[in-house]
Parts: sequence; structure tokens; C-alpha cells
Amino acid sequence: MTTIPTEQRTYQVRTYGCQMNVHDSERLSGLLEDAGMSPAGDDAQADVVVFNTCAVRENADNKLYGNLGHLASVKRKHPGMQIAVGGCLAQKDRSEITRRAPWVDVVFGTHNIGSLPVLLERARIQEESQVEILEALEVFPSTLPTKRESAYAAWVSISVGCNNTCTFCIVPSLRGKEKDRRPGEVLAEIEALVADGVVEVTLLGQNVNSYGVEFGDRYAFGKLLRACGDIEGLERVRFTSPHPKDFTDDVIAAMAETPNVMPQLHMPLQSGSDVVLKSMRRSYRRKKYLGILERVREAMPDAAITTDIIVGFPGETDDDFEQTMDVVRQARFSSAFTFQYSKRPGTPAESMDGQVPKDVVQERYERLVALVNDIAWRENTALVGRRVPLLVAEGEGKKDAATHRLTGRGPDNRLVHFAPGDADVRPGDLVEVEVTYAAPHHLVADGRVLSVRRTRAGDAWEARTADPTPASVGLGMPSLGVPDPLPADDAPTCQPR
Ligand code: SF4
Repeated sequence: MTTIPTEQRTYQVRTYGCQMNVHDSERLSGLLEDAGMSPAGDDAQADVVVFNTCAVRENADNKLYGNLGHLASVKRKHPGMQIAVGGCLAQKDRSEITRRAPWVDVVFGTHNIGSLPVLLERARIQEESQVEILEALEVFPSTLPTKRESAYAAWVSISVGCNNTCTFCIVPSLRGKEKDRRPGEVLAEIEALVADGVVEVTLLGQNVNSYGVEFGDRYAFGKLLRACGDIEGLERVRFTSPHPKDFTDDVIAAMAETPNVMPQLHMPLQSGSDVVLKSMRRSYRRKKYLGILERVREAMPDAAITTDIIVGFPGETDDDFEQTMDVVRQARFSSAFTFQYSKRPGTPAESMDGQVPKDVVQERYERLVALVNDIAWRENTALVGRRVPLLVAEGEGKKDAATHRLTGRGPDNRLVHFAPGDADVRPGDLVEVEVTYAAPHHLVADGRVLSVRRTRAGDAWEARTADPTPASVGLGMPSLGVPDPLPADDAPTCQPR
């Protein structure tokens, strides 16, 4: 048994997959810090390594077992080290993980992330692997301790799970039926975040538009957006992901009439062909989808609309694909996460007839990406000369150091790299700039900064920089840290990739 006391142990959480996992990892970090552990330094070997896995990515299991294989020898040289595996792949593979990698100490599922510290302790005392997977949610994750990664922006879960049955998606079987959090609890968490300096929140759910289904209010999501508008100090509200099936006009009205709800919509299309949508069991059709976009743009002419598209779903013909291209042309997406369909074990689509040959999928995919980029570039070019208010970000501009720029996001969530000149700005502050150049995936503003508004989020960032000791962890309360941007290829929804 290890002799390192828990309070001296260090941890590292390695996250794969979607925002839901990123957010769960904040909870896992919070739980481990609540148990007395501290984060391992960048180059130091952690005493506890937690994998928060994703079952959606291609070859996710091969990658996990490869990583675990590498850690086996590390563990032999590091007495007392523990390895835990959680998330969707753990929910799916269960005891298979400890069978293939017996040096793993703990396997836990998506419904019981709160059990991690207890399971680690039990594994340590009993010197035996612990596998605990629950079929239903034990505690709503937002009631667990959290270590938030950003000083100025935060995820807030409004629901977990999904009642849909898209045939390409494994999430419903791994995350279970939709569970909604009561609006009062959501708003209380947001108010606590704002009191701590956060100025932007993203409401998170697998399908935010069905929010309220559990407590019988189909207009609950629009009401929640409007209630966010009453929170003083909350500058920006975003949400992901909506679902075209459940998207109602009251949500468009709430977005348009609530000043702090941003003119941005990530609306998963998946396919522009009605035949393919039916086979995906996505119960909207292209006409309804395009109608929603039209009404969103009528109400918010500057709204940026992004999407997810799968190419080469089983049975997709040339004509089906052309229909997707047609919707993309009409929809004028400002960007799109595009995926080549590949089989996911455990999904209905895995055994469907008409799997499309790889070379056909590749050719369609390349044409789609070229079209998406061309449209995105044209949409961005139309913004050159426009004044844009930016929330200054940290860690989002990969080349900022080399180009001597900073990076921020506009209300429509577009990434803008800007030259700060001698303006004194901090992550979390708000600046106004004029766009001078457009690329398909970002904008540049190389003129002078037109205005700077220093915010409490900037103050919070500065306080953290002055005192880098880890902030304390509280129930549902934010703490400070370096933001952890999602990898560019991580889509907000659960796609085959
Ligand atoms: S793709 Fe989204 S809406 Fe469809 S089943 Fe998966 S989580 Fe639910």
C-alpha cells in the first residue's frame, strides 16, 4: 500500500471528447482537491492519473489501451501511483478495462463521478481494483465540488442525458435519459459564478431545447434565457447544443429580446437529405431546419450560425450528398464541424446496409470542407471594417506570442486576433476593435484598440496571476485557473469521428 498521505498526493485529469466531458473533468478536479490532492506540475508525474474517456471518437479504445499500456511501466517505477478510468468508454467497457489493463485501480461510469475519491481510497486500502458503474444518475453533477478552469467564463449544466435515439450516437445508452436541473438551481449557480468574477456562461445540455421535459414546461429553456438577462454583471450567455426537432420560436424571441444572450447558434444539421435524416432518426426535415435559420436571421440579422455535418452515413447517395451541399449553401454557416461517418460499436447505424466506400466518403468530405471554408471566408470578409466588442481570452490564440497580438471573441463567438498596442488589457476585459482582415476561421484587427472596459473578470484574472496558489474548491462554486480550450476538432455534440 502507498505511504503517500492523500493530502500530499498530486493528480492529473486527462480529458477526451465533448464539452460535457470537459465540464465533468472540472468536477473530477474539484473532487480530488476536495479530498486534499493538488494538481501535478507540467512535467511532474502525478500520483493519481484519471482518464475521462470518450466512446465517440474513432479508435477511442485503442488509444486508451495504448495510453494505459504506457502507464503500466510508469506505475511500476512510482510506488503508490493510482490510475482511474471514467467517462463514456468506461461506462461502455466496464470490467473489460481491468481485464485488459489489470494495473488500473478504478473504473467509474458517467453516472457516479462523485464516487471517484471513495473508490480510489478503497482500491488503495484493499489493494484491489474497483469497478463501479451505475445505470442511472446518482447525483446531478453540478452539485459536486468543482475546480473551474477559467476566471471569466464557465460552463453550467442544465441537463444531462438525452431522450433521442439518433442511430449514429452512443450517448443515450451511456449517458441515460435526460435529467433536468431545476431553473432555480441553475440560476443560483450562475449568480455565484458572477459574484466570483465570471462574465460569460455557456448553458450545457445534450439537447437544451428539450429542457423542462422532466418538470413539464416546454417553454422552460426560453424562460431560463430571459432569467439570465436579469442577472446583473452577466455579460454574455451562450448555450449548446440545441436540437432542430425541439427548437421553438419562443427561444428565438428570448434570444433576440435578451441583450446578454449572444447572437450565436450552433444548430446541428447532420445531413441535408430528408431520407438520410430519417435513417439517422433525426425527426426534423431540411425545410424545417432552413425555416428555423430564416427566423433566427430575421430576429437577429448578425447571428452567426454553426453546425455539425456527417458525410457518408450508410445509404447516403450522390443525390443525398448534393442536398447537404445545397442546405450548406442556403444556410451560410460561419463554420461547421464536418465528420466522415465511421461505424461506432453499439449504435444501430453500425449494422445498417449501404455503408459508403471510404474513397467516396473522402471525395464528398473534401468537397464539403471546401464549400464550408469558402462560405465561412465570404461571411467573415463581410465583417472587415466592422467595430466588434471582444471579450479578451486567454490561451485561445496559438500564435499570439509570435504575432504580438491578443485574442478575443466577438458576440457571435468569432475568434478575433487583435494588436493591443499600448492598451492595458487583461483576459476577461472587454475591448472594442475594428476588423481589418478576414480568414475562413478567424478575423484580425490590427488597428488601434478603440476602447477598453476593465471588468471584474479581468480583476479576478489579475488576482490569480499575482497569487498562483490553487484557489479553494467549493460546492458548485468557481475557482480560477488557466482556461482549457477545446481542441479545434472537438465538436460540441456527440458525433462519429
Ligand atoms: S446526437 Fe445528440 S440528440 Fe442525437 S442521440 Fe446523441 S446526444 Fe441525443
